[in-house]
Amino acid sequence: MRMIRWFVILSLLYMVSLSAKTPSKVEWNFYPSYGRALCRLTPSLKHGFFFKAATSRKVVALTFDDGPLKRTSALLRFLKQRGVPATLFLLAPQINRHNARLYDDPLFTVGLHSYHHINYRRASRKKTRRELDRALKHMRRYGMEPYYFRPPYGMVSRTLLNALNTRNLHGVLWSLDTQDWNGRRGARFRRSVLRSLSPGAVLLMHDQSVSLRDLGRLIAGIYAKGYQIVPLSELVRSGSRYPCE
Ligand SMILES: [Zn+2]
Repeated sequence: MRMIRWFVILSLLYMVSLSAKTPSKVEWNFYPSYGRALCRLTPSLKHGFFFKAATSRKVVALTFDDGPLKRTSALLRFLKQRGVPATLFLLAPQINRHNARLYDDPLFTVGLHSYHHINYRRASRKKTRRELDRALKHMRRYGMEPYYFRPPYGMVSRTLLNALNTRNLHGVLWSLDTQDWNGRRGARFRRSVLRSLSPGAVLLMHDQSVSLRDLGRLIAGIYAKGYQIVPLSELVRSGSRYPCE
């Protein structure tokens, strides 16, 4: 009887140690075609972009794309009231002297998304450079000097990477697509994101798609799981992990 009890205890301990070592099943949560495309990227291209932090600390970063738009001011007010840091990847032509002021807060990091929402994988060298330079010029007019860049649709190319390097821009993708753009809402939105949460994750959201109610519940859920929400720069300092490696 005693032997059996020890066997059960040792088996349980073994299982616990295994689950501690095995990375969580949903380490990456891309939409499927995008995930497959990322796996096919050559390491030299992939390593030019940041995906998620190489850390075991329970920290994550929130990112929002496509602003400034109508709902941006409410979103930023919401985050500010809760003291939640975020990185906002902006479409340059949408910035004007009224909405530029919204980002003027130490909680917020302004990143560049693009001038036009183009697919950089299909853009020529000339077009790539023109898009970036035009966007940077526009942003500088409002005192913005972005360091992080997120390509629309997460589409990357060698040409893009070279253009970013010469402009001191650091490409940032994501590890956890919340699918807000795909109409995911309510409990489904919250549960799917929280299930996929892992140390160092970069969450992808959109100013115009995510509802503040869902966002509030998601933030509460993130804290309840013992995670901290930190600025993107804190994750970038840890170095990146890469999908499919
Ligand atoms: Zn976008």
